[in-house]
Amino acid sequence: MSEGISIYQDGSGLIIVLPSFTIIHGHHTFGHILVRIEKLADDLFVTHECPLMQRGDSCDCVKPALDIYLHQTQEAYEDVILEQRKVKLKPTMTQLI
Ligand SMILES: [Zn+2]
Repeated sequence: MSEGISIYQDGSGLIIVLPSFTIIHGHHTFGHILVRIEKLADDLFVTHECPLMQRGDSCDCVKPALDIYLHQTQEAYEDVILEQRKVKLKPTMTQLI
């Protein structure tokens, strides 16, 4: 597990907190990026608001977040569905890592 990464339980999903400097090489501009991943039916829904994801395309945070999620949950899935929406931590969420 990379340093600085934490994981929170949010209902049936997980929120992965990625330090943005692991993603945007050499830039510390964005602080942390929160990526929420939840399995619904056979698909993984990946939600985050990203300065790198402008056109609904995949960005460089999706893969590391997915790797962490799959390492944590050992889930199998068919498709990944990306949603651009702000993810927020709440005090009621349990920190797993
Ligand atoms: Zn992103």
